[in-house]
Amino acid sequence: MQNYQPTPDLLNERVILVTGAGAGIGKAAALSFARHGATVILLGRTTKKLEAVYDEIEAEGNPKPAIIPLNLENASADQYKAIADSIDSEFGRLDGLLNNAGILGQRTPIANYKPDVWQQVLQVNLTAPFLLAQSVLPLMEKSDDASIVFTSSGVGRKGRAFWGAYAVSKFGIEGLMQTLADELEGISSIRVNCINPGATRTAMREKAFPAENMENNPAPADIMSQYLYLLGPDSKVITGQSLDAQ
Ligand code: NDP
Repeated sequence: MQNYQPTPDLLNERVILVTGAGAGIGKAAALSFARHGATVILLGRTTKKLEAVYDEIEAEGNPKPAIIPLNLENASADQYKAIADSIDSEFGRLDGLLNNAGILGQRTPIANYKPDVWQQVLQVNLTAPFLLAQSVLPLMEKSDDASIVFTSSGVGRKGRAFWGAYAVSKFGIEGLMQTLADELEGISSIRVNCINPGATRTAMREKAFPAENMENNPAPADIMSQYLYLLGPDSKVITGQSLDAQ
């Protein structure tokens, strides 16, 4: 599906929640989903960035988005419940969830890895996507064609030196995806998959590879076709898979 060509109205009438929607790949995904007709719920920790994406979507005349400010590092069970309740009262269902927000942590040997950074990375990259997916599952059951996407990485499929908690969190996300997909297959219309963006020109990539020429990496907007595929109706039969965006 690398050459997937989305139709302009691919996501019409769909309500899709994107985490980390204020910057990088999440921002590009939110803009792209809105351009293909979706009502996008923008979740992130920096309200100003979310508002800028909101304004861009509105200025383009696409469906009016919603904003949910949330810090995934310390969000409480009550906050997740409040999010699900507010989506329920505003939209009555959820058709798509892109768990995209993530942090890099340290690039250092396990022998030196700071335990508090380890906890932080596991919390944001693995536990938060679990908590969010769990809290919106009943809302996704109300959709005829719901799709959950978790964000993986090359180091979530093969461990590599100095990637520490980040790699472990991405292995965990692959495991969460497989477990949830297996639980839902045959009894639910919710499909569950991973996407690995591959090297992409964002702040995280620059932090991970400061010596790299960033211009050689595609911009987030250039890697959207697999995201659109997974969030739209054409991937209906796909579940339990880990796809590459590039
Ligand atoms: P960026 O660092 O550019 O963006 C990350 C986004 O996540 C930002 O919007 C950020 O918000 C948000 N975020 C971070 N921490 C929190 C938090 N505690 N609560 C809420 N939101 C938070 O990263 P990318 O766009 O590059 O990465 C997106 C995803 O893709 C990640 O899961 C990453 O692991 C994965 N990935 C990226 C690759 C790449 O080459 N870029 C390669 C492989 C995987 P804010 O801007 O407010 O800080």
